Amino acid sequence: MALIKCPECGAQVSELARACPNCGYAFGAVTVEGADEKKGVIQGVVVNDINMTFSSMVSFMIKWALATIPAAIILAGIFFFLTGFFAWLMARM
Ligand SMILES: [Zn+2]
Repeated sequence: MALIKCPECGAQVSELARACPNCGYAFGAVTVEGADEKKGVIQGVVVNDINMTFSSMVSFMIKWALATIPAAIILAGIFFFLTGFFAWLMARM
């Protein structure tokens, strides 16, 4: 059982106590609410981050695929042109 410090009077109080026995400050409910809010914020940020990363990754892959198709056609054209050119050179030699 851990001890926490009362924010009102600074006394060492059991974490299971809902109020400080020294000054009567009710910190239990406030601490739980704060923790839940922090968890919600963290989860929301994580979920938003995953969604943004996934959608940006999909759009990046689509753009990459669209940019790759003409590049692949050009590269294939150059490749076949060079192989045909060298085949024509070899045939002449
Ligand atoms: Zn206190």
